[in-house]
Amino acid sequence: MEGKTVLVAGAAGFVPSTLCEHYLNLGAKVIGLDNFITGSESNIELLSKSKNFEFHKHNIYESLPDFKSQKIDYILSMASPASPIDFGLIPLEIMRVNSEGTLKLLELAKEKNARFLEASTSEVYGDPEIHPQTEDYVGHVNPIGPRSCYDESKRFAEALTMSFHTKYKVDTRIVRIFNTYGPRMRPNDGRVIPNFITQAMRGEDLTVYGDGTQTRSYCYSTDLVQAIHNVLMSDDVTPFNCGNPDEYTVKETAELVIKILGSKSKIKYLPLPKDDPKRRRPNIGKLQSISDYKPVVKFEDGIKATAEYFKTLL
Ligand code: NAD
Ligand code: UDP
Repeated sequence: MEGKTVLVAGAAGFVPSTLCEHYLNLGAKVIGLDNFITGSESNIELLSKSKNFEFHKHNIYESLPDFKSQKIDYILSMASPASPIDFGLIPLEIMRVNSEGTLKLLELAKEKNARFLEASTSEVYGDPEIHPQTEDYVGHVNPIGPRSCYDESKRFAEALTMSFHTKYKVDTRIVRIFNTYGPRMRPNDGRVIPNFITQAMRGEDLTVYGDGTQTRSYCYSTDLVQAIHNVLMSDDVTPFNCGNPDEYTVKETAELVIKILGSKSKIKYLPLPKDDPKRRRPNIGKLQSISDYKPVVKFEDGIKATAEYFKTLL
C-alpha cells in the first residue's frame, strides 16, 4: 500500500481506527475524518504518532474538507454509530450519516476515481428467518421499530452504493459486518461484550437480556480488519459477509466471560429489547471463495485482550 492514500470516515471509532492502523502499517497515507459523536480522541492520538496520518474533525453529512488536488485511492465509509443504545439516543444522526454522509463520500469517490467501500452490517438481515445468513438473503427488517434508524439507513447506504456503481461505474465494495469486539471499543458502549467484560471486572451482575437463548457470533477486531481488506482488494462489487461464524447463546457468552476473567460475578436477567434478533451467524463461504480468509483469534484470547485494554481506561 506504499504510495496509496486511504480516506477513513469514522477514524476515531473502534473498527475504523483499527483499519487505519492496518493501512498505516502497510505503508499507506491515511486521512481520517470524525466528529467524535461515538469515537474517542485517544484513538486519534494513537494514530497521530504516525507521520502518515492526517486528521480532520468533521461532520461528514454536513460537508467534507476540500481535498483539492489531493490524490485519494481508497475511501472507506465507516462513520456510523453502531450500538443499539445509540439507536434510541441519536436516531437522526445515524440516519443522516448513513444516507447524506455516504452520498458525500460516494461523490468524492466519483470525483477522485477512488475505490469505495461501504461498511454495512448483518442488521440488514433484521431478525433473520434463515440461518446461518448468506448474502442472497434479502432480510426481515421492521421499518418502524427501535432498530430501524440503523437497519434501514444501512440498507439505503447499500442501495446508494450499488446505484453509484451502476450509474457512474464507481468502483465499489460492500461488507456486511457481524458482531465485532476488541480493544478500542468504548467500555460504556452498551454492546454485549463491553457490558459483560466491565461488569465481570467490577464484580457486578452480568445483565443478560431475555432468557439468553438468542445467539450471536463474535469476531475479534483484527480478524475483521483482515476480512475487510480481502474484500477491498477483490474485484467483486456484491456484498460480502465479514465475521466469525463461531456462534454462542448470550447466556453462554456471559458464562464464558465470567470464567475467562476469573470473576465472581453472577448473571441477572433483564427484559429483552423489542426486535432483538434471535439468531445471528454469518455464512462466510463467499468471502472464503475469494480469499484464504480464516478468523484466527480465539474467543478466550480476544476477551482477555479486550479486558486488558479496558483496565488501562477504567
Ligand atoms: P464506532 O462508533 O466506534 O465508530 C464509528 C465512528 O464514526 C465514530 O468514531 C463516530 O464518532 C464516527 N461518526 C459517526 N457519525 C459521524 C459523522 N456524521 N461525521 C463524522 N464521523 C462520524 O463504531 P464501530 O463499531 O467501530 O463501527 C464502525 C462501522 O462498522 C460503522 O459503520 C458500523 O455501522 C459498522 N459495523 C460495526 C459492527 C460492530 O460489531 N462493531 C457491526 C456491523 C457494522
Ligand atoms: N445483550 C445482553 N446484555 C447486555 C447487552 C446486550 O443480553 O448487557 C444482548 C442483546 O439483547 C442481544 C445481544 O446481547 O441479544 C447482542 O447485543 P449487542 O447490543 O451487542 O448487539 P446486537 O447484535 O443486538 O446489535
